[in-house]
Amino acid sequence: MKLFRTLIPLREARSIVLRHVRRVGVEEVSFDLAAGRILAEDIVAEMDSPPFNRAAMDGYAVKAEDTLGAAPDKPLVLHRHEPYSGSEPESEELSEGEYIPIQTGMPMPRGSNAVLMLEYGKERDSKLEVFKPVTPGKNVAFKGEDVRRGDIVLNEGRLLRAADIGLLASIGRRYVKVRKKGAIGILSTGDELYDPKVDGSSGGAIADVNSYILAALMSTIAKPSRMGIVSDNYDALKAAIVSCIANCDAILVSGGSSVGKRDFIGDVVADLGEMLFHGVAIRPGEPTGFGIIDEKPIFCLPGYPVSMIAAFEMLVRPFLEAMHGLKEAMMRQVFAVVAKKIPSAVGRTDFVRVRLSHDEHDGEYYVEPIRVSGSGILSSVTSSDGFVIIEENREGIEEGERIVVNLW
Ligand code: AMP
Ligand code: MG
Repeated sequence: MKLFRTLIPLREARSIVLRHVRRVGVEEVSFDLAAGRILAEDIVAEMDSPPFNRAAMDGYAVKAEDTLGAAPDKPLVLHRHEPYSGSEPESEELSEGEYIPIQTGMPMPRGSNAVLMLEYGKERDSKLEVFKPVTPGKNVAFKGEDVRRGDIVLNEGRLLRAADIGLLASIGRRYVKVRKKGAIGILSTGDELYDPKVDGSSGGAIADVNSYILAALMSTIAKPSRMGIVSDNYDALKAAIVSCIANCDAILVSGGSSVGKRDFIGDVVADLGEMLFHGVAIRPGEPTGFGIIDEKPIFCLPGYPVSMIAAFEMLVRPFLEAMHGLKEAMMRQVFAVVAKKIPSAVGRTDFVRVRLSHDEHDGEYYVEPIRVSGSGILSSVTSSDGFVIIEENREGIEEGERIVVNLW
């Protein structure tokens, strides 16, 4: 399948794509709806967390100095601070030789500096026998020890995670600025395709799986819109793209991106705007193109689902990350030892589906390629744990080498 006269290197294709990124705008959302969104501001804590010194254990708030020398066979005796309602320890002030019973999370009384754990004391008749000394600060969570007022606690460009939402809650941030989700139009092209959500399989028809894969790949970061299936017809494709361009920030088209008799997308983009490259030295995914129409980026992706996924990971994902101001990798990555040589040819970048395993004896993660080459074999992706990218100057990766694995 020799397709293109010139294939440009992935690095060059990526730099062209990234040159045409237009960053999406910003919106404010309630902090509890921000998980999975990309932060568009630095978050500065406007209060300390915890907001006051508080007990980190159940027990007795004491002055640590008063417990010096205590031992199981030589208990010291403290006196209960009175009167004490039990509800607002922070408004109480301990004097020398006094204690106040306290539960985890309660504010420490003024004058106290440690919590004696329940099991190291014995309380009777407003007196406490202390069997063990405590050091100053013991079992106390100090004001600001988690987050200090004025600190930058979360940085712009971060993909917000569950614990981040908790942190926002702890410092009283109700609203946060996040990136809007870019509207990404998705078109599938091919006379043979039918929409499996609407129709059943019949005759020689093929289910359009690409538009569903693309929508799922993007839904956390962007707002995908499936714009339907277009037949292999120049005018139909042109009309579909014109209407898609009007409603979207960028378009992904899959299928019809080779240079066969029924592949029109390259011509349509060139006629409506400009095709910036067509044909990239990647495998799978060679028939990938990129152009601009009315300043809007349009990706022409291969029709084979595995090739399309490869092209997405190598070119579209970096584009989406930049478009949404993401400053960290969206995918989880691990280092793993190559268990079996991963072959590759010099002169192209390979996208290799891999399996990851963990060896309990040496504690290492091992990675090996899945040996199915067909770009139509979608189950080779579903049975993989992730993929590795082999740079174009490498002739495979030898057994024993350590490489980065991107996890689904
Ligand atoms: P093409 O790139 O149009 O030559 O398509 C290559 C192969 O991918 C053909 O076997 C197509 O039937 C298949 N294909 C194209 N588009 C899709 C799609 N949206 N879903 C599933 N398979 C597709
Ligand atoms: Mg086709």
